[in-house]
Amino acid sequence: MREEIEARFADWKEPAYRVTQLLDWLYRRGATSWDAMSNLPKPLRARLSEQFSLRGLDLVRLQGSRDTTQKFLWRLEDHSLIESVLIPANPALYGEASDRRTLCVSTQVGCAYGCRFCASGLEGWKRNLRPDEIVEQVLAVERWWKAESGESKSGARLIDNLVIMGMGEPLANYDNLMKALRILNAPWGGGIGARKITVSTSGLAPQIRKLADEPLQFRLAISLHGATDEVRNRIMPVNRKYPLKELVDACEYYRQKKGRMLTFEYILIAGVNDGLDQVKPLAQLARRLHAKINLIPYNIVEGLEWTRPDDVAQERFRSALEKQKIPVTLRREKGHDIDAACGQLRLRTERELAA
Ligand code: SAH
Ligand code: SF4
Repeated sequence: MREEIEARFADWKEPAYRVTQLLDWLYRRGATSWDAMSNLPKPLRARLSEQFSLRGLDLVRLQGSRDTTQKFLWRLEDHSLIESVLIPANPALYGEASDRRTLCVSTQVGCAYGCRFCASGLEGWKRNLRPDEIVEQVLAVERWWKAESGESKSGARLIDNLVIMGMGEPLANYDNLMKALRILNAPWGGGIGARKITVSTSGLAPQIRKLADEPLQFRLAISLHGATDEVRNRIMPVNRKYPLKELVDACEYYRQKKGRMLTFEYILIAGVNDGLDQVKPLAQLARRLHAKINLIPYNIVEGLEWTRPDDVAQERFRSALEKQKIPVTLRREKGHDIDAACGQLRLRTERELAA
């Protein structure tokens, strides 16, 4: 964080402009070694290298799909694997301008919430990511892109939209997430506008209220996937802790504090939540919260029994919501052929490694 560096540099009697130089190396130019920071004096670089480490992420696997969605699998120092997904020219899914390059980042290794349909939850929760591990996903992808495209102009940025929808439950790693998002948002850091950052949660009601009280205006996506407690209880254990009423009250609070920035994610799973009986309660919730709905056909996870409804059933559900005058999109998600849903590439890689 800027304040931490400022305090340290003040201790060291370094002039203030050195802080700006260091931040520029770290966040704008994506330096990976202290030696590269050529405008910092050598003794300062030596001091920095003794006290801080410039840990990067190791790219273990990169998968690109035909439509150029790209999935990065990273290895951390403790050999944990995490994923980030780069989605170019995303249509405006969360109310942001379209034609943006979006990066989806992870916040935890694994996930403790165990939604029945999700690959990330399958092997449980391992640990929270530190703020630098969250930030570094953005920097590492930017670095990769600069190398790839020969785009070396300092200051040129690749990513202008962030979705916190990779592996893990972001709001369960609240403090580290906020620290990372403040860095990614800061003009001296990632420079990504708060309105271009969408946090997705499976429904941690108390943390949604906490997020509503933050000064920054992040967008919020709720992984709803069911409009009744009956459906949600069946596929999302978190709903037993925070049932729909509690979740909706927290969302209402969020909406009052933040205005219209809510999206419901609704994965269509055949025979589970795609019945037309769900349309009315879903429309009621959306209307009450002024939320828009993103329908996402379920991405099949190896080893799990769930499937996606066929195109006709998907379309039927979508148009029924539209008839209720609810803003709705049916996302033909771009990453389907590269396991883009969260946790799937990691799961597959871990299984291959184990085999
Ligand atoms: N834990 C947070 C954010 C990560 S999950 C959350 O649950 O919102 C990001 C999104 O991917 C969620 O909406 C989740 O429900 C969805 N998802 C998980 N597995 C999926 C699958 N197999 N197919 C489609 N979407 C999936
Ligand atoms: Fe965790 Fe989100 Fe997957 Fe549920 S959907 S298990 S909360 S990552």
